[in-house]
Amino acid sequence: MYLISGCLLGHNCKYSGGNNLCGDVKSFAEEHSFFAVCPETAGELPVPRPPAERLGGRVFDKDGQDVTYAFVRGSEKCMEAAEAEARRRGEKIEGAVLKARSPSCGRGVIYDGTFTGRTIPGDGVFTEMLLERGIPVYTEDTLKELEELVKRRGA
Ligand code: SF4
Repeated sequence: MYLISGCLLGHNCKYSGGNNLCGDVKSFAEEHSFFAVCPETAGELPVPRPPAERLGGRVFDKDGQDVTYAFVRGSEKCMEAAEAEARRRGEKIEGAVLKARSPSCGRGVIYDGTFTGRTIPGDGVFTEMLLERGIPVYTEDTLKELEELVKRRGA
């Protein structure tokens, strides 16, 4: 089972109220067992909401509000729900395909906390949680790598 960012599947959970629908990710979801996640709405942040970025180990929204607790709690809730669903299906969580550069879902590169579009090396809060559990995380930008891996494994 793969975890996939809901916004990449067309769910309107993005801060703006829209989504980040990605055709390649949607096709991947059609061919594999998946479970949609959105750590920010799971953390009871509203839609729409001000954009947020990681800064110095915490997360702040554009209005200066510290939203770290919602990000951490939402990530924990997604993790718990995903583990319960994997158990129910009798499957293993093989990996995740999450939204690039997001403060929750980004992998390897995230926005730098200045709300200027600049990026720095780093991972989102949920991504960190998955990596700590040894679950590999890809984004829509690195989906091809995962597809190659799956093909090689013949899965
Ligand atoms: S938290 Fe992740 S899944 Fe939810 S809107 Fe942001 S990038 Fe998409």
